[in-house]
Amino acid sequence: MRLLLVEDTPELARSVLRFLRAEGHAVDHAPDAATATEAMAVADYACVILDLGLPDGSGLEVLKARRRAGDRTPVLIATARDQISDRIAGLDAGADDYVVKPFDLRELSARIRAHARRAQGIPETRLQLAGLEVDRAAGRIWQQGQEIRLTAREWALFDTLLGARGRVLPKPALEDALYAFDTLVEGNAVEVYVSRLRQKLGPGVIETRRGLGYVVP
Ligand code: CA
Repeated sequence: MRLLLVEDTPELARSVLRFLRAEGHAVDHAPDAATATEAMAVADYACVILDLGLPDGSGLEVLKARRRAGDRTPVLIATARDQISDRIAGLDAGADDYVVKPFDLRELSARIRAHARRAQGIPETRLQLAGLEVDRAAGRIWQQGQEIRLTAREWALFDTLLGARGRVLPKPALEDALYAFDTLVEGNAVEVYVSRLRQKLGPGVIETRRGLGYVVP
């Protein structure tokens, strides 16, 4: 993965760079806010590790400017242990997560992988939503430890929505999921299956966006 480390403390930067490069990542290093802003504008990073206290400004301003420009790159802010206000400000400014200094490099690496995977649309296989526990790889769902059984078509529709979690999918995209079963899909099939899924999964799992489609928020 191509990563950007924004960090002005030379020893810390060196150890993080050494660790992440040894793991096979291509890591660029920006020691100040100006370099970071330019690098993020030019290159396409899988994840950015962003220190907040930089010699020429705040990492927070870098982040805000990139988010304003529509940049959705996953950003992990690195904050000091006692700076809870920094974490909140960072998350409010659009950071995806934070790590507390001094951080464990293996933990940093695991978080980078998780956020990069999410951003690439490769979701984690096990997830929780609206009181449900879902294992996408196994195609199984539980509610309070009780397994909920879905038909293959119900699962196909639900899994398609999960894969696009947070994005509204229009009806045709969902019809495609049902077409995979190689039978004729009737005009109201999506509505029918969504309604069955709601009966099984409960409210708040699949939302309707009138005129646009459906979304798992
Ligand atoms: Ca610093």
